[in-house]
Amino acid sequence: MIKKFLKSVFRKPAKTRSAGNAQVIPFELHAVAREQISHGALRVTDGLQAAGYQAYVVGGAVRDLLLGRIPKDFDIATDATPEEVRSVFRRARIIGRRFRLVHVMFGEEVVEVSTFRRMIEAEDAQTDEHGRLLRDNEFGDQEQDAARRDFTANALFYDPSTQEIYDYHGGYADTRNHLLRIIGDPLVRYREDPVRMLRAVRLSAKLGIKLDGPTAAPIAEMKALLDNVPKARLLDEVLKMLLSGHSLECIRKLRKMNLHHGLLPLLDVIWEQPVGEKFIMLALRNTDERLSQDKTVSPAFLFAALLWHEVLAAWNSRLQQGMRPVGAMHEAMDEVLARQRAQLAIPHRQDAVMKEIWLMQQRFEQRAGQRPFRLLEQPRFRAGFDFLLLRCASGEVNEELGLWWDEFQDASAERRAEMLQPEGAGEKKRRRRKPRKKAEGSPADEPVAAADEPVT
Ligand code: ATP
Ligand code: MG
Repeated sequence: MIKKFLKSVFRKPAKTRSAGNAQVIPFELHAVAREQISHGALRVTDGLQAAGYQAYVVGGAVRDLLLGRIPKDFDIATDATPEEVRSVFRRARIIGRRFRLVHVMFGEEVVEVSTFRRMIEAEDAQTDEHGRLLRDNEFGDQEQDAARRDFTANALFYDPSTQEIYDYHGGYADTRNHLLRIIGDPLVRYREDPVRMLRAVRLSAKLGIKLDGPTAAPIAEMKALLDNVPKARLLDEVLKMLLSGHSLECIRKLRKMNLHHGLLPLLDVIWEQPVGEKFIMLALRNTDERLSQDKTVSPAFLFAALLWHEVLAAWNSRLQQGMRPVGAMHEAMDEVLARQRAQLAIPHRQDAVMKEIWLMQQRFEQRAGQRPFRLLEQPRFRAGFDFLLLRCASGEVNEELGLWWDEFQDASAERRAEMLQPEGAGEKKRRRRKPRKKAEGSPADEPVAAADEPVT
């Protein structure tokens, strides 16, 4: 006991050691314990190591643990090939075509395992005419795998059996100093993959850490490269930002760096309209709050919010031309979705929900007869109502409407009967329609209640 005590008092301070080009940081310094790694990730590293392979926890998880955050998942890097990984585990499957990864399943947990990869030398690399890498799936070793990663904080390897961290690029010190630094020459790395610029913004916003000067500096002049990135990938990254739990901070940073242009083109217009901006900011704050409370957030709801003021503008211009509300809304929705699809590739499968949410909005105005009851039965009433509340909070519609629906939902049958407005209220516009030529006829001729029908 005394011996142990004396030993701990006189113990030499823990030091890093070198292993090849890596600095190896011991547990005594970084304090990330094996117990902080998920059950599945430990089973994978233990299993691979027992089979004679190297295996480390890598990427975002190590970074998050060093920053005192709970990782959302644990990725593993190994020198075993995908086939070799699969042969070690009972429930594992190889996925992906471009990068072949292995998913190892332990009950609910899916652990992603990737084989060390290397960056392909410039002369062999397939790039587009702007220098963007089209392929980087050659196997490599741990050091090469570190070098192909984006930021120093993302290139740390943690070995759960020794509790050591392997660091090739000073990521440990950077993370401790709350600095996000790109590995290598920023100009080259952004050219290889312009999405790294967006990742820089997202990760620094999400983690509350600073972008290193030389990492941030070239972004302003290189942002045009984002135009060459496939739309689906941009949308993925935008979604990651919006669903990061720090979407407000991400958008603020994007605007500050002038990166939002062309990325969310719909936003460009909206910033100029105070009510539109307020609406979007509220929607994002609402999303961040929901995520911080572990509630679900639907991408469709978010997109519906981001596009709402465009839909409103398109709708209003049609109403002014004398179109009826429902038909005008259908056309407005289709116009905005088509325009947006060309820019951001919002997938078709989101359309139905977005349209339901939008179509419900005008139905909230109708508070007479059977209509409010029919609206309550809509499967997506809750989303529509949340959307209405955002509109109220942004000042677009009178708060009274939101309060009315808030009460009506839970009110007794008698109270509901009292609350209903006299038949005919809020419907004047509909009755005042102009005669229209047959050829123009469209959904505009449907009765208002047609909005009940599914729209796809
Ligand atoms: P998050 O917490 O959002 O998941 P993450 O850093 O884990 O953050 P992932 O997209 O899961 O992000 O990527 C896992 C790892 O793959 C990263 O930590 C990084 O090492 C590497 N990586 C991801 N995208 C790139 C990229 N565009 N260029 C280079 N390396 C990348
Ligand atoms: Mg990750």
